[in-house]
This record gives sequence, C-alpha cells and structure tokens, in this order.
Amino acid sequence: MTKKQHNFAAETGRILELLTHSIYSNKEIFLRELISNASDAIDKARLKALTDTSFLGDDTNFEIKVEIDKEAKTLSISDNGIGMTQEEMHEHLGTIAKSGTKEFVEKLEKAKEGGDHNLIGQFGVGFYSAFMVAESVDVISRSALDTKAHKWTSDGKSGYQLEETKKDSRGTQVILHLSEGNHELFEDWKVRELIKKYSNYVGVPIMMLENDTRSDEEKIKEPKEVTFEQVNETKPIWKKSKTSIKQEEYKDFYQSVSMDFNAPLGHIHSSIEWNVSYSTLLYIPQETNAFSDMRDPNKEYGPKLYVQNVLILEHAKELLPVWLRFVSGVVETTDLPLNISREMLQSNKTLDTIKKSLVKKIVSELKKLRVKDAEAYGKFFQNYGSILKEGVYYEQEMKDDIAGILEFDTLLGDKRVSLDEYLESQAWDDKTIYYISGKSRSEVLASPYLAQFLETKTDVLLLTDAIDEWMLGVFDEYKTIKLKSVTANDVKLKEETEEEKKKAETTGKQFKDMLELVKNTIGTDKIEKVELNTNLWDALWALKTPDGAMNPQMEKMMKAMGQSVPETKRILELNPNNKLVKAMKKEFKEDIKSKKLADLTHYAYMQAILLEGGELENIADFVGMTNKFAGEYLK
Ligand code: ADP
Repeated sequence: MTKKQHNFAAETGRILELLTHSIYSNKEIFLRELISNASDAIDKARLKALTDTSFLGDDTNFEIKVEIDKEAKTLSISDNGIGMTQEEMHEHLGTIAKSGTKEFVEKLEKAKEGGDHNLIGQFGVGFYSAFMVAESVDVISRSALDTKAHKWTSDGKSGYQLEETKKDSRGTQVILHLSEGNHELFEDWKVRELIKKYSNYVGVPIMMLENDTRSDEEKIKEPKEVTFEQVNETKPIWKKSKTSIKQEEYKDFYQSVSMDFNAPLGHIHSSIEWNVSYSTLLYIPQETNAFSDMRDPNKEYGPKLYVQNVLILEHAKELLPVWLRFVSGVVETTDLPLNISREMLQSNKTLDTIKKSLVKKIVSELKKLRVKDAEAYGKFFQNYGSILKEGVYYEQEMKDDIAGILEFDTLLGDKRVSLDEYLESQAWDDKTIYYISGKSRSEVLASPYLAQFLETKTDVLLLTDAIDEWMLGVFDEYKTIKLKSVTANDVKLKEETEEEKKKAETTGKQFKDMLELVKNTIGTDKIEKVELNTNLWDALWALKTPDGAMNPQMEKMMKAMGQSVPETKRILELNPNNKLVKAMKKEFKEDIKSKKLADLTHYAYMQAILLEGGELENIADFVGMTNKFAGEYLK
C-alpha cells in the first residue's frame, strides 16, 4: 500500500485549528489524554483475553511505555493493548466522534474571542491534544485482530496520511515530534512529574527508562544496561486506605472518571464485606458538566465496574438507578465471574444487592453534605435537583428519604428549604404541606389563591420545576403529612366567625342565580360548578381543578408525551367583593339576557385560563374582545 493523503472530517479540522493556535496554558494534559487512550486499549485487550487468549501470544504483560528521544526530538507513548486496524485509524483518528463535539467547537470559538482558554481543559479533546505540543504526530498501530500494521501521520493541519508499515508486536505507538517551545518535555524529571500528576492511577504500569544521571564520561567508562522502571503507582485509589489519600488525589481521580473538571461536591469511599463484597469510590458532582448533559435520561451513566482488576464495563447502569445518573466513579467486586456476559449482568442478584446498598449510601451522604455545607449543596441542587426528584417517583420505598433531601422555593422565605425545614417553620398544629404548582415563579405568585396564605403568614412551596407535576402524581404524603394544593377545596386557614358565616350565606343566596347563568354561558362541558370565594384578593375570579383531577400543567405534560388526556371540567370561583363582579350582578338583575354580561363572562373566563397557565382555544376571540373593550375605553 502506498501513502495516501486523507482529509479530516470538518469538525476535527476546526478543533485542530483551534488547538494548535490556542495559547492554552495547560498544554500538559496531552500526556494524560494519550496515556488514558493507551490504558483504554489495554483494558479492551484484557477484556477480550477473558474469553480468548490466543491473540496474546507471549505478549501478556500489559504496560505503557513512555520514551524520550532527545536526538530525534520525539516523545512516544506505546501500549500493547488492542491496537487499531486501518479502518479503525480512519474512523477514530480522522474524526472526532464524541457527542457534543459540535457544541464544544462553537463554545471553544466563542471562548477564544473572549480569551477564556480554560475550556479545552474542561473537555477531553483526547488524542488531538497531542497537537498542542507536537508539530507532527505518527501513530503506528497493529490490531490484535490483524497481522498488518499501519502508520498514520499528520501535521494537524489539512489532513493525514496512512500507509502500511511493519510492527512486530500488537498495540499502538504514538510518536510526538515536539514543536519549538516544548523542550521541557525532553527532560526525564518533567515527564515523570506529569505522569505522577495526571496519570498515577491508570491501573496499568507506566514504564520509563531508568534515569542514568551519571556524566557522559562515566557512562562510556562503565556502560551499563538501562532497563525500564515503573513510574506510577498501580494500586487503585479505591483499594487504598482512606487515611492515605489526600483530598487532591480524590479530586484528580474524580476528574479522570467523570470528565468534569470542577471539584466534586463529595465522595463515598467504602469497602463492604457482607453478603456481597465490594469496594467503591463514588462521586457526587457540584457544577454542571458542560459536555455531558445529565438531563438526558438516555445518556450512558453508571460507575466503572471492575471484577478482579479487570474493567468489565465502562458504565454499569446496572449499579445505579437512572435518577442517580449524575453519580460517577468505580465499583469493584470479587463476587462476579470474570467471564460474565452483558446479558447476565442485566438481571444479576449480586449487582442488585450492590445497587440497593449504593442507593442508600448516596442518599444518606447527600443528607450529610447538605448539613455540612448548605451553600455547596444548594449549588448541586440547582444543577441536579430535578434529576433527584425522579427518585421520588421511581423509588416508592425510599420516597420519604429522597424527598427529605429536596429543596424548595417558598412563598414567604428567600432561600430554598427542605420539607422538614418547611414543617418546622409552620406555626399551626394541624400539619399540612401546602404547595402551588405552575410554569414559573412569577406565574404562581400571581395566583389569587395565595391571598389567604399571605394574610395568615402561612408558607407555601412554589413548585415550578417541570418535573414537579410528575412527582406530585405519586407524592401526596411526606412522612404521613399530606401535601395539599392551595387550590384544594377544603383549604381554610382561619375559622369563619358566626357573623361571617351568615354574611356568606346571604351573599350566596344573592348570587345563586347569576352563578347558574355564568356556568351555562361558559358551558357545562367545561365547568363543573361555579362558586363564590372571598379569599381571592381583589381578583375577579379564579379557575381550579377539582380535587384528584388532572391540572392543566399535568395535562400539557401528558399531551407532550403523546398520551391522550380526558377533558377535565374545572371549578370557577367568583370573588363577590370584586368591583366588576358586583357590576355584573347589577347587570344581571336588570337584564338576565344581557349581551354585555355574556361577553364579559366569556372574556373573564379566558383571562382566568391564562392566569392559571392554561392555553386558550381561540386566541383571536380573546384579542377581538380586548380590542372591543379598549375601544369603549377610548370613547
Ligand atoms: P476518546 O478516547 O475519548 O474516544 P480520542 O480522540 O482520544 O477520544 O480517541 C479516539 C479513538 O481512537 C478512541 O476511542 C480509540 O478507539 C482510538 N484510539 C486512540 N488511541 C488509541 C490507542 N492507543 N490504542 C487503540 N485505540 C486508540
């Protein structure tokens, strides 16, 4: 095969352009990226060797070699992992296949204009980071499944060349021809420092030639064979004792498993020997991970699963429920057979037992973290709270525990509170958790139903997260205390006096016929009943959903999910103290068939729908009527 020139895929070209021209200060992460690729390739070979050792030959000691050649001005990283075929080199080194790359390129371009060069470090650009320090890169690789080897060469500009070459052993060698200004990388101590700093725990020995510090003269006088020695530590961090690990090391390991380059909120490090034995190091994030959208429930998630030192799964979904998809880390167990298949993992008792215990641990850790540092927890909750709420929905057995670590905005307070804090702050004996749900804070705060709560200084949870409605569908009780919507029929925060009762009765009688007319005018298919409510501030009237029926937000959500939704009749409440209502009653008395009264009824009904976050059947009607009234006003 001759040397052939190939072009990079469009986005790859753009990333390379940005990388090579960036004045990014943290160039040194290239080594972490290349070593991580080498280690992944070795993990793949190890995994394959579980079922078939024939491809290993004598080459059974997995290791990564890092070599400096001062004369040739190169730094090379070699592994005896799975290797790449020619097609794989095209596919993996000619395109950046990662999801989110397009968004990343756009962010990177913007950041470049703004001078924020930190972004590269936040996104593993992987192999291509080599071009931050090299003017050209050769990759020589032989796949475990192929007898031929291939060489990929590129200067990171327009494209790359690919040709057949010779390589005796399986694996990949990446050779960096270092560019000017990176001469520090020819120093043995520097490279060792970088390996220790970024790649100490990769789990594969990283070898470098023994450093012979004697003078050249001495070396000639007394030649001795230099051998490779291990530079990193290979005892995995999760198997070390907690007391021997520094906070910084925990953070470094977090960054390597999560692709999140911020510090985590906290971690759980434990070793269990009970009916199953496992050790784990799990992390809870704090900031959002710009390149891994946790909101997506279909994303890959779950800790790495190791069985007896072998990485079996990169993301073991079997070990964590979907509502803890933001948790990353490692689980290692000796209680699974090494040759376990993907199918067997899916319904495995050992994994189920571990999963149950992990979920409990994480929830109790979150509770502790909230007490320890409320502000940090608040940030975490801001970013991941709505995912956590899915847990209340899915995990019926633990719903109170999970609900206990949620935070809510409230009507009276200015910071988010937990349900327990909410309950503690309430003065009355008969405990109820009141909430109002809607699209946004401003929308719910405009609800006339809050009038009696403000008046009696009774706090209300403001549920404006899209998932809240969904959660409420199964969550109507917290530690046996009822959750109740402020629009519920039996919400009465203060006892009526005899006098008030009498007055209400009389008003009721006065309005009875008009309420009937209003109901018929709007339509009995839409309205279940029309009643009076004196607790509506100065609002004209308000709509509410009968207890137990589906409210408009829920309806909308179900419709968006493609479900058919039964029509729910609503309850309309009129405020007899409102000026306009009084005027309507007067009109009603004078002329039962008044066209004006009918118009106003329709109009106010539409307003009530809008106010409660619903959608109008016919916006043109509403606009037409508004203009008509506006015309009257101008007269
Ligand atoms: P990532 O590692 O995040 O997938 P990279 O750009 O670093 O992204 O690498 C792209 C792909 O190239 C890898 O997924 C892998 O398939 C392949 N690759 C890179 N380095 C090696 C290596 N040393 N051995 C085998 N395959 C490799």
